[in-house]
Amino acid sequence: MLNALTVDVEDWYMTNGLDIDPSEWHKYEDRVVRNTTRLLGLFDSYSVKGTFFILGCVAEKHPELVRDIAERGHEIGSHGYWHRLVTSQTLEQFRQDVRSSKEILERLAGRRVELYRAPSWSISRARYDALKILAEEGFACDSSMQPFQTPLSGISGAPKTPFSPVLDGEPLGIREFPPTVAELAGISMPFSGGFYLRAVPYPMVKWALNRVNRTRPGMIYIHPWEIDPAQPRAKTSAFIRTIQYYGLNGTEGKLKRLFRDFSFRPLGEIINGESFPPHRLYSPGAG
Ligand SMILES: [Zn+2]
Repeated sequence: MLNALTVDVEDWYMTNGLDIDPSEWHKYEDRVVRNTTRLLGLFDSYSVKGTFFILGCVAEKHPELVRDIAERGHEIGSHGYWHRLVTSQTLEQFRQDVRSSKEILERLAGRRVELYRAPSWSISRARYDALKILAEEGFACDSSMQPFQTPLSGISGAPKTPFSPVLDGEPLGIREFPPTVAELAGISMPFSGGFYLRAVPYPMVKWALNRVNRTRPGMIYIHPWEIDPAQPRAKTSAFIRTIQYYGLNGTEGKLKRLFRDFSFRPLGEIINGESFPPHRLYSPGAG
């Protein structure tokens, strides 16, 4: 069984939890090139290829990084332009954000960019119509709907397996590949990326992914700043400190163990030729 390996390419100070306005970003130390390049070296040493969902603002500032990722044979996806929550934008702002990121990434990589991941899994109930915009803007697959809810993100009750969204009765012509959770006695157990991958002990991560792989491919997601224990610490709440900084020392070791124990491919290869069952979504106030 193959699994998708995905990286959300953003710098440490851009995360939504830290809530630093883009107009302030120039005050912070840029570490995204160094960290992403280190990840690329790690992937090369295990001959692993993945999908890099890159922010438009990172691509514009570091075009050589996008070319490096593409030339090493990885897939390029869009993580939007500014790392703004989808729910904090109007539909028109969202359209402009994804369009500008897609244009710059396609120009730099010299190929089509058809995969999208929203910052902080922020395609939620209030913004299902964003999926329609993505389809209209030429995206073939979205990976933004976290099938459990936390104070920061997610949709409780959303499908845990890939699906073809049908919004208010209309098939959207885009596929959704949600972040992977294992199910344990009917309860969703997140383990596949970000804080969860850092917090869950590796034997449990391995057990959970093996369990998922009995029936379907899973997906791992990481961020370049997660392999950077020396990153500056921003002033924030104890909750966000935990989410952002817990277990940074262990990320790289966990990735190496995952690469030894499982097979990974870019998301586009995992979904290639697959048709996923329709799933009905309803806009707020409709249906
Ligand atoms: Zn992100």
